[in-house]
Amino acid sequence: MKPPICCICDKDFRNSDEGGLIYFKRRPSDEEWERMMEEKGMVGHPPYACWFCGQHFERAKSLEHLTIDEAMKILKK
Ligand SMILES: [Zn+2]
Repeated sequence: MKPPICCICDKDFRNSDEGGLIYFKRRPSDEEWERMMEEKGMVGHPPYACWFCGQHFERAKSLEHLTIDEAMKILKK
């Protein structure tokens, strides 16, 4: 798992309890990734998951039903 650094503003908040990890809707490539990781018995940071700081968490959470591509397009506006 990646350290908690906000996907929008690059804020490193590993020493605070703000924000959190959000799992977006999986794309076909993400399902492929999960299958591959499972087959190899590996764990890693899911390509469809992202950390968000306290300032951006609520907004990102409201978009978690979208894929990460769609959500980031909206969030970075
Ligand atoms: Zn942020």
